Amino acid sequence: MLADTLSETLQHLENAAKAAHRPTPALLAVSKLQPASAVAELARAGQRAFGENYVQEAQAKIGELAGMDLEWHLIGHLQSNKAELAAQLFDWVQTVDRHKLIGALSRYRPADRAPLNVLVQVNIDDEASKHGCRPDEVADLAEAIAAEPRLRLRGLMAIPAPHPDTARRIDAFRRMQALQDQLAAKHPGVDTLSMGMSDDYALAVAHGATMVRIGTALFGARPAP
Ligand SMILES: *Cc1c(COP(=O)(O)O)cnc(C)c1O
Repeated sequence: MLADTLSETLQHLENAAKAAHRPTPALLAVSKLQPASAVAELARAGQRAFGENYVQEAQAKIGELAGMDLEWHLIGHLQSNKAELAAQLFDWVQTVDRHKLIGALSRYRPADRAPLNVLVQVNIDDEASKHGCRPDEVADLAEAIAAEPRLRLRGLMAIPAPHPDTARRIDAFRRMQALQDQLAAKHPGVDTLSMGMSDDYALAVAHGATMVRIGTALFGARPAP
């Protein structure tokens, strides 16, 4: 069943990208609160990259599915006291938004693993309830990440406000794309702009997303925590 939903979602992504004359973005399957068995089912259907919000929940799942050669992304807020564990568990951390995390992630990235892929999370709509740095802090954080040999700066991530007005949403995606262009001009390794979720991924793809993070549209509604 999940295999059907996966192929439909991939088809939608491809169509949205084609319509916008853009390359098809990478699909991150957001598996927070979903059981390891659902992740395994999607993995058997060919999905490799999974996103988790909570470090401890991810730790259990990553352990359970260790044999499946999956790629794990942290997309939830990272507390400094969990940076050590996150640096050991994940392949990507998409939620770096302050200097304190950068040193800790680098220090604790195990020497026998590839450098940790990092995205800077931007609070693009300046929402009090959301984490992420201000747009004018991106350049400085990016410099600090790029200077760490155990980290690899890959780009930016955002969760724009779910504004009912489509024009306002498009505006947020465009501001992210502009920030991404500035960043890529300075840092040649930057190739990832992570934005777009179940409700708005087609719009995000049309406005420059290279990675979309989709949970509900793939797995169905999440069980209560
Ligand atoms: C939960 C979550 C998603 C996926 O949301 P859906 O609406 O279920 O697709 C994407 N990104 C982040 C940061 C999330 O926390």
